[in-house]
Amino acid sequence: MICVGIARGRHRHVIAEHKFLAENGIRLVELRLDFIQGNVQVKRLLRDRPCPVIATCRRAVDGGHWAGSEEARQLVLRTAIVEGVEYVDLEDDIAGQIRRYGQTKRIVSHHDFERTPGDLGGLQRRLADLDADIVKIATMSNHPSDNLRMLEMVREATVPTIGICMGDIGMPTRVLTGRYGAPFTYATFNEDRLLAPGQVGWRKMRDMFRYDAVGPGTRIFGVVADPVGHSLSPAVHNAALADAGIDAVYLPFRVPAEQLDEFIWEAARWPLAGLSVTIPHKEAVLRHVTARDELVERIGAANTLSFTGDTIAAHNTDADAAVESLENAISAQGAEGLVDVTEVKSALVLGAGGAARAVAFGLRRRSIDVTVCSRTPDRAKRVAAEVGCKAIDWSARYKIPYDCIVNATPVGMHPLVNETPFEQQHLRPYMVVFDTVYNPENTLLVKEARASGCRIVTGVDMFVRQAAIQFRLWHGRDPSEAVMREALKRATASAKLPG
Ligand code: NAP
Repeated sequence: MICVGIARGRHRHVIAEHKFLAENGIRLVELRLDFIQGNVQVKRLLRDRPCPVIATCRRAVDGGHWAGSEEARQLVLRTAIVEGVEYVDLEDDIAGQIRRYGQTKRIVSHHDFERTPGDLGGLQRRLADLDADIVKIATMSNHPSDNLRMLEMVREATVPTIGICMGDIGMPTRVLTGRYGAPFTYATFNEDRLLAPGQVGWRKMRDMFRYDAVGPGTRIFGVVADPVGHSLSPAVHNAALADAGIDAVYLPFRVPAEQLDEFIWEAARWPLAGLSVTIPHKEAVLRHVTARDELVERIGAANTLSFTGDTIAAHNTDADAAVESLENAISAQGAEGLVDVTEVKSALVLGAGGAARAVAFGLRRRSIDVTVCSRTPDRAKRVAAEVGCKAIDWSARYKIPYDCIVNATPVGMHPLVNETPFEQQHLRPYMVVFDTVYNPENTLLVKEARASGCRIVTGVDMFVRQAAIQFRLWHGRDPSEAVMREALKRATASAKLPG
């Protein structure tokens, strides 16, 4: 069950949000009474309530907004109990002063905004002993193992316990706490107005992470990166999992570089079933893998890990995704000009980073004559030496025409949408133009290429294709690429993030 926090200054706004949530199927809300401006009218908020309530009134020290006296705060909580509220949240230092009364269930809570304490089990037992119906522990996660210790504490608790780690490192615990036995999790009403770091909006919790479908047998997948908040992979993979009816969830794991080793060593404790790997970990993960495909071997970087027993297998899906997208675009977009990918004889790859390297490898494997072109000539030369292709200076990119132009730079990406790495006057109708940028899909380069009569491959095509290859590796079946594409478009539209 998802409990949605309502934190508004005016009573009528609290009542309106409560009604809205109940109408949308939410069965528990937390009223943050500390946000109310002026006198808190507890009776008014609880009268005719459309679904059960947790009454919470937090001091600043516990991350709240309460500005009145402690006496007045406890009076608010006692009033809620007398009014028969379903749950009251009592911090551990006052739980002993407020006695059980009527039907109201007691949530005894503890917050730590700095760290996750060592002895979580001891803390949980101390809170349980304060006549708790439910224990709630929310602590700052500074390390992925903090998350694991928290979830394991929830699993071992004998009194129902919600364990949540705060901060973006801790975010997966919010989705997984129920899998380990918590009676519910917390989410915010508004995606933009978060009450604590790492929180998740209720729609995302319900629709993207499908919290209510996550159970003890749900397999855990995710993307490991730092930062990870901008990643669109959770939207894409979770949509495909839901569509396929697979009991698995895909989460964003923020893991700083210096914590990666421990995170991978501890994979079996979650247990993790598969990971997408992105910046800055694509090379570093290789020191842990026990099996790798030929592309990982040649590129020296992995973007996919699969965990089975003691085996960690590494794959790189970017190169295949690039070539498969190109093949699809050529066959799907009419019979004029090139008929299939074997007719692409030459390609110019703009950029010399990870994406350029993967695309260049993929194209070379199809015997295409590849030229890499970069602002920083040394980087281009290095990629060319690894891939076995040519390198030219950035200023030389228009000198000779190519069958295929690939943009593997961020030029044209949101918010710099009026930029292109390749001017329209140099585009020719026989060219295939492949822009790896996916936010937005219709970059200036894509628009100008379309206007010039070129065939197009977009970054969305490639992103969806690489996610689909990962899905196939992990789940042994093809996802609906249409569902993935739709989810990616929705996520980019709502995120308005750089990529
Ligand atoms: P990266 O490793 O940072 O490499 C970026 C490359 O772009 C570098 O060669 C860089 O040159 C060059 N560059 C940056 N700004 C430039 C500019 N203003 N003009 C000319 N060159 C410029 O990044 P990456 O991981 O390869 O990703 C590159 C882009 O590929 C991303 O922005 C993303 O849009 C796209 N991508 C798409 C997918 C997909 O599935 N669709 C997957 C991965 C990446 P310097 O070395 O001179 O800085």
